[in-house]
Amino acid sequence: MGEENLEILIDAAKIKRRVSELGREISKDYAGRFLTALVVLKGGIMFASDLVRAIDVPVSLEMIGLRSYGKSTASSGVVEITLDLSSPIEGQHVLVIEDIVDTGLTLNYLLDNLRTRRPASVRVCALLHKPERAKAPVKVDYKGFTVPDRFVVGYGMDLDEKHRNLPYIAAID
Ligand code: 5GP
Repeated sequence: MGEENLEILIDAAKIKRRVSELGREISKDYAGRFLTALVVLKGGIMFASDLVRAIDVPVSLEMIGLRSYGKSTASSGVVEITLDLSSPIEGQHVLVIEDIVDTGLTLNYLLDNLRTRRPASVRVCALLHKPERAKAPVKVDYKGFTVPDRFVVGYGMDLDEKHRNLPYIAAID
């Protein structure tokens, strides 16, 4: 395996500030409602754990495991559910918490799948968005940062299961 070059794009302090802002915005929008936070595993786990603690309306936590890339860094468009929800979401206000929206294919698949389960509403919160790569039309309601078309790791995101534990977000060559 060759040398990996990491370039920090978003440091830990900047992530923390943005997560607090998103938490405040989400709390305001969902005031008086009960929110189901649906974490997309594995990449969304760090972001979601910080974000739900910045939200001050009642929250229940659900998880769904999706795999779209396997070991490659190029989107296959093929999405696999590796872990399904543990309970029904019918009638609930669902906030999908994702690490990154790249082509949008994964999110598009997930939103279609969730709609069949008849939630009261579904919104999307993604830490990162790569708008240059969009292939499927998806609406990201709450967005942390827009990033350029580079492969990123850290703060939950991996390359072949490595680098998820980095406290910052870095581009990797
Ligand atoms: P999409 O289907 O939008 O192309 O890809 C969504 C999923 O692919 C993300 O949830 C994430 O798991 C993975 N992904 C897309 N871009 C990146 C990236 O730059 N870095 C990492 N680590 N994963 C990515």
